[in-house]
Amino acid sequence: MKSIKEMFEEQYGNTSTRSSEIMEELKKYRSIDISYSRVLSSMCTIPHPYAIEAHLMFLETNLGNPGIFRGTKMLEDKVIAMLGKILHNENAVGYICSGGTEGNIQGIRAARNIHRKRDGNIVVPKSAHFSFDKVGDLLRLEVRKAGLDEEYRVDVSDVESLVDENTVAIVGIAGTTELGQIDPIVELSEIAIEKGIELHVDAAFGGLVIPFMDNPYPFDFQNEGVSSITIDPHKMGMATIPAGGILFRDERYLRALEVKTPYLTSKAQYTLTGTRPGTGVASTYAVLKKLGFEGMQRIVRECMKNTRILLEEMVNLGFEPVIEPVMNVVAFKTDKAEKIRDELYKREWVISTIREPKAIRFVVMPHVTEDVIKDFISELREVLKVL
Ligand code: PLP
Repeated sequence: MKSIKEMFEEQYGNTSTRSSEIMEELKKYRSIDISYSRVLSSMCTIPHPYAIEAHLMFLETNLGNPGIFRGTKMLEDKVIAMLGKILHNENAVGYICSGGTEGNIQGIRAARNIHRKRDGNIVVPKSAHFSFDKVGDLLRLEVRKAGLDEEYRVDVSDVESLVDENTVAIVGIAGTTELGQIDPIVELSEIAIEKGIELHVDAAFGGLVIPFMDNPYPFDFQNEGVSSITIDPHKMGMATIPAGGILFRDERYLRALEVKTPYLTSKAQYTLTGTRPGTGVASTYAVLKKLGFEGMQRIVRECMKNTRILLEEMVNLGFEPVIEPVMNVVAFKTDKAEKIRDELYKREWVISTIREPKAIRFVVMPHVTEDVIKDFISELREVLKVL
């Protein structure tokens, strides 16, 4: 088989002299990016070396046309089965998408199409990711926001009071973006069953953390009321971007999303995008296969250990956590949150702030090692002196 370079050069001639200049220019732009070793706010990370190798092998694949890329499609089915197993449903169906935003859109779109309410609404926790505002806008659904309890979990009684005859779905978060908190999915599942509506779980972050913790909270398909789950390999799965995941309890939900695809090798398509890469499928497979359950457990344990180290250092500096960290996300109360964030950014350290309460937030991804934390804390000490 010819390489992409050979095919390209056959068509456009040898461009190697110009290519070096172009690459130099690209490198210049790339060097302006901030290195992950100074980023303590991202839910993405440096891809696993196996993910990079797999990504390169699948560079030209397009799952929008699965009859051509039939091996890649078989691999996607395998990845969905692996994720389904992690989420306690070996019969789960779905696909590898562009990320948590698409996963949430598709989860709710399936619910809306199944229930077809005229003035439909969804009930999401106040802590929900902003992608649900896009969901509401795109799908013309009212997004009702339920309050939180003192531990920043959604208040189940508030959810219940916001559900009415036009509700198509309720949403629970397993690993909130700002605090890494887990909503009471067990109780939300009971509401969904009782009201005959769907429950979408946004486990974009927590889906590849919680299953590998000691005594994991039952956030997944083991609850009968859970219809769909967003779970992103490009976050804690260390896959290459883009690799999100949307899984459904059964085929019924995929059928609710289908459109006919007259001129392709397939008859119908249930994905949101048409052309879509197989790279995320390959890189997810490579990481899960290489690490296995125990390997993922090791990664999660290491992140949790480093979260505790960061917590101790911050407490020593006089900060108080908003909640005891549930997973590898932790926030600390401070009235100076924005000032601290901005001053650190000037020094090329990236942290973030949260909506409520005023706090600075950290995500302790695999690249946030003990050494990174040490360097960060000494810079933070300097920043606190000048503020
Ligand atoms: N859901 C949750 C809980 C998230 O934390 C995020 C992103 O951080 C998303 C959804 C959106 O994911 P993406 O940026 O991959 O679209």
